[in-house]
Amino acid sequence: MSNNCCGTTTALELERIVNGPNVGALPVVVIGAGPVGLAAAAHLAERGQDFLVLEAGEQVAASVARWGHVRVFSPWKYNIDAAARRLLEAGGWSAPDGEWLPTGAELIDDYLAPLAKLLGERLRLGAKVSAVSREGYDRVRTNGREAVPFLIRLQDGEELRARAVIDASGTYENPNVLGASGLPARGEAGAVAAGLVDHALPDVLGADRDRYEGNHVLVVGAGHSAATTLLALAQLSEDTRITWAIRAGGAARTYGGGDADALPARGALGTRLRAHVDSGRIQLVTGFFTHTVRCAGEQAIVVSRDASGHEQAIVVDRVVAATGYRPDHTIASELRLDLDPILGSTRALAPLIDPNRHSCGTVPAHGVDELAHPEPGFYAVGVKSYGRAPTFLMATGYEQVRSVVAALAGDWEAARDVRLELPETGVCSSNLAEAQEQRVGLATGISGGLLDTPLAGATAAVPGRGGGSCCG
Ligand SMILES: Cc1cc2nc3c(=O)[nH]c(=O)nc-3n(C[C@H](O)[C@H](O)[C@H](O)COP(=O)(O)OP(=O)(O)OC[C@H]3O[C@@H](n4cnc5c(N)ncnc54)[C@H](O)[C@@H]3O)c2cc1C
Repeated sequence: MSNNCCGTTTALELERIVNGPNVGALPVVVIGAGPVGLAAAAHLAERGQDFLVLEAGEQVAASVARWGHVRVFSPWKYNIDAAARRLLEAGGWSAPDGEWLPTGAELIDDYLAPLAKLLGERLRLGAKVSAVSREGYDRVRTNGREAVPFLIRLQDGEELRARAVIDASGTYENPNVLGASGLPARGEAGAVAAGLVDHALPDVLGADRDRYEGNHVLVVGAGHSAATTLLALAQLSEDTRITWAIRAGGAARTYGGGDADALPARGALGTRLRAHVDSGRIQLVTGFFTHTVRCAGEQAIVVSRDASGHEQAIVVDRVVAATGYRPDHTIASELRLDLDPILGSTRALAPLIDPNRHSCGTVPAHGVDELAHPEPGFYAVGVKSYGRAPTFLMATGYEQVRSVVAALAGDWEAARDVRLELPETGVCSSNLAEAQEQRVGLATGISGGLLDTPLAGATAAVPGRGGGSCCG
């Protein structure tokens, strides 16, 4: 076996492959014990595959716990993975009412925590993964690559080996910035450090009430996180002033499908929000492109600057940045990932989840083939797999991990037999209101005059992927 600089396998490498660890005997490592990571574990358990789940938080589903006060809009029947249900029911668990809309806290207490309990030592809490690579192979080296195990390094320096890695670490830890261009707004870091900016979904009616009641609050963002926060703010005392700023020229996307929404809770959210805007309880500012955040004593001055250079400023006591999330693939930067340049999902998945074309409910079934990277054995699943597309539903993630685990178990027929029954929705798909919004178009929406009168009805719908909004 020759050794040269161009990637042929050396004798040493070959010996390592032949005499080294039996990769097939190593566990599959699942990163993250959220709903989808735990569902992956359930499928691995059901198929008799050795596995280990590593969760950064000190509790299971640590990210869900952070929005535990929020009631989800999909009922239980869509939120429980089939393999998890079988495992739990075998242990005497009874599923909650399938039509009930749980809060994040209920998701944990009534489903995820009991599921985690069944995993015993196969779930490690407080185990934050800082990097994943191939043992002895950086991203460039090729020959023999597939025969060596994955190397998983934890934050405390411990290293583990795995035959495959399922990255279900979510996106919640990596929120988008306030800046309309995707870069932090000027002064944003300072305003965050000064405690004037909160990321999405503060517990406005509970633990965080004192910080909001009686203040002027600006919510930036057009997704359901923004809607949820706005509705909570509207329940505070009347002296709580609420301003809602969005880039688009109208809020049709956020208002969504109303009575036509197949997830009634989601439709109702939009309908209630529209009523508050119509009544003036919430002041909607459209065509707002956050550019600068300045601290002025205990207040923040949030400045919008549009493409024509027109500026408008809002002075507030607090800002809620409900601008969505983005995936952080840096833990896998020594692996070979094939990422869509726009969404940050795999390139095969991107057209299936494109928020310009799909709502949560119209995403087609997909599995191992769409999630595969050029790095065999590594899969990003769950909300992380969608990158910046805000159209993710747990049910979609459950089908992803069913398919991936079937493939890892060698059952390619099951892996490729992907099926999905999702509630259709009018929220993010091309409903009439949205189509109308896009027809009015960007050209008129960003003119300075129209921004001076933001409720004039013209729109500044942001083109390109990422403009849609559904679940975040
Ligand atoms: C407010 C809100 C409401 C939603 N409502 C719905 C709904 O109604 N219906 C629906 O289907 N979907 C809903 N979603 C979308 C989605 O289903 C959820 O975000 C879901 O929690 C995603 O599951 P996940 O397992 O992919 O990721 P997460 O739940 O984010 O779990 C990721 C886990 O990985 C851990 N982790 C992160 N980094 C590391 C690391 N480096 N090492 C180890 N562990 C790590 C985290 O601590 C976390 O526990 C909602 C989302 C939000 C934010």
